[in-house]
Amino acid sequence: MAEDCIFCKIVNGETDTSFVYENDKLVVFKDINPEAPVHLLIVPRRHIRSVNDLTDADRDIVSEMVMTAKEMARQFSVDKSGYRVFFNVEKGGGQLVFHLHMHLIGGWK
Ligand code: AMP
Ligand code: ZN
Repeated sequence: MAEDCIFCKIVNGETDTSFVYENDKLVVFKDINPEAPVHLLIVPRRHIRSVNDLTDADRDIVSEMVMTAKEMARQFSVDKSGYRVFFNVEKGGGQLVFHLHMHLIGGWK
């Protein structure tokens, strides 16, 4: 766990954030400031700063994140209408929380 990392605190159950899904590798929760009717964050349990810090050893977690996004889209009924999944990378890319996470947004009318 990284000190002063809000997502490490969330992953470790130190906040009242509830998970919409969790497994041994990652958790999923709703974004506190949603940009769309459905806005989920898919977050590895392990602290990784950003996409830039991924190594070959992280292939499994990246794959798990994408497959989880697909499943969450189905559960939140945005799979057919369509959705976006993305990473913001470092400050210039709009990253505000420096613990790797994938956004899933959708549900527009
Ligand atoms: P990013 O700009 O990619 O780093 O996105 C960070 C996201 O985390 C933003 O969309 C925030 O609204 C969201 N966020 C920050 N703190 C929390 C929190 N405590 N619970 C849920 N979402 C959060
Ligand atoms: Zn962290």
